[in-house]
Amino acid sequence: MSAPTPHVLPGATLGVIGGGQLGRMFVHAAQRMGYFTAVLDPDAESPAGRVSHHHIHTDYTDVDGLARLAGLAEAITTEFENVPAPSLENLAVARPVAPAAASVAIAQDRIREKAHFVRCGVACAPYAVIETAEQLAAVADDLLPGILKTARLGYDGKGQQRVATPAELAAAWEATGGVPCVLEKRLALDYECSVIVARGQDGQMVHFPPQRNLHRDGILAVTEVYPGNIPVGQAARAIESTRAIADGLGYVGVLCVEYFVLADGTMVVNEMAPRPHNSGHWSMDACDLSQFDLQVRTVAGLPLSTPRQHSPAVMLNLLGDLWFVDASDTTVEPPWADVLALPGVHLHLYGKTDARRGRKMGHLNITGPDIDTVRSTADFAAAVLGLPIPLSE
Ligand code: ATP
Ligand code: MG
Repeated sequence: MSAPTPHVLPGATLGVIGGGQLGRMFVHAAQRMGYFTAVLDPDAESPAGRVSHHHIHTDYTDVDGLARLAGLAEAITTEFENVPAPSLENLAVARPVAPAAASVAIAQDRIREKAHFVRCGVACAPYAVIETAEQLAAVADDLLPGILKTARLGYDGKGQQRVATPAELAAAWEATGGVPCVLEKRLALDYECSVIVARGQDGQMVHFPPQRNLHRDGILAVTEVYPGNIPVGQAARAIESTRAIADGLGYVGVLCVEYFVLADGTMVVNEMAPRPHNSGHWSMDACDLSQFDLQVRTVAGLPLSTPRQHSPAVMLNLLGDLWFVDASDTTVEPPWADVLALPGVHLHLYGKTDARRGRKMGHLNITGPDIDTVRSTADFAAAVLGLPIPLSE
């Protein structure tokens, strides 16, 4: 157990490992509070590196790069869960690090993650661990049709294969190279939701209202947050489960937990992210404190306060596909001016220069006086951009 984090006050430098969009939005929030920032990311063009005071261009395991980060930053966080846990351990010798390596190590391995959920009394989708040919052969038939997920390094549906028969399962596992996997039963989902909490060193925890999420092709497409977006009892259960999962880790930082809700109202946990999450981006424009503001406070050891949502919100993810003209390779900038002509539209772009299909380029937050207005603006914006409508199912 490390010593309690002293307050790291504005004027100091905060560090973040990872230079993607989440790091960029952390940097923006930190700078707004008067901090200097340092980003460690090997990509010279990384979204966060471009806007940070300091940018260390090394790999996440580079001893020299990590030492430079620890030299510059008085407290350090991470923006992506695949940062090698030993790098965080190494940094934690010199500086407060939140979240801790031990929490990140659990979140980056689906097998350990599911074991943690079970330990906390939160049910997962039925699953089997597949690390050996014996475990593969022993898989129960009722887990099929299922989804084979690599235990490590998956995101946005990558590292996942749908399988319907034992033969397909065997072929899919072989295609992974026989790496550790979990096979999850494919569930008929009524809807998906997620809850984001921020937990301090002293165990104080605050949460955002549960988010209702729509995924397309394994990638988050739409998040809606307004009173009644989720039945009250289910929302309360999701919050309680998330708190239990965070407490069980002794977590410090911002944590997102994703849930599946089935037609009969059963709720099972899907996975967690030890960082701010795409489904929490709405908080930037519809709350008095965003998930990134709270990340800054947790890493700096400052008091947390419960974020207050002041507007209903719809968030639309902007993937690289929007830049492509039909099926061609030609890209054009989407018609932002037409979208920005709509009331309550907040455009966030991550400064990525090359659009690729499926790549997260930005998001659009829509706020307004009531959810009907917000939804109709969101539909309109989606139509202007050529996003699939209706937004929800
Ligand atoms: P990310 O980290 O970007 O959220 P991921 O690659 O880790 O994504 P998951 O969250 O495991 O992937 O799955 C992505 C989506 O695929 C889910 O949000 C859900 O829509 C669908 N999905 C995953 N597992 C199941 C399941 N067992 N049954 C039904 N749908 C599923
Ligand atoms: Mg997910």
